[in-house]
Amino acid sequence: MLLITCPVTRSDELVPDRRIRSVDNHPTHIALHVECPACGAVHVYRTGRRWEQARTRAADRAADRAAAAGTARAARVGVPA
Ligand SMILES: [Zn+2]
Repeated sequence: MLLITCPVTRSDELVPDRRIRSVDNHPTHIALHVECPACGAVHVYRTGRRWEQARTRAADRAADRAAAAGTARAARVGVPA
């Protein structure tokens, strides 16, 4: 069984293994093609340690950029005219 979130209906669905249409093994992740019980479409879910690490690094970089932008804004506000 898999727990997926349908990107169309945004609902969480418990999916039996027989609804997994195919599994692709990639160097960085495994792609599961799952027939969705909510909307009937096939969604792709990627999983794997390296895939999660890459996503975490990307999220960290985005957070760093946001923090840097916030610091720059605060610095500009703090500079007397
Ligand atoms: Zn769906």
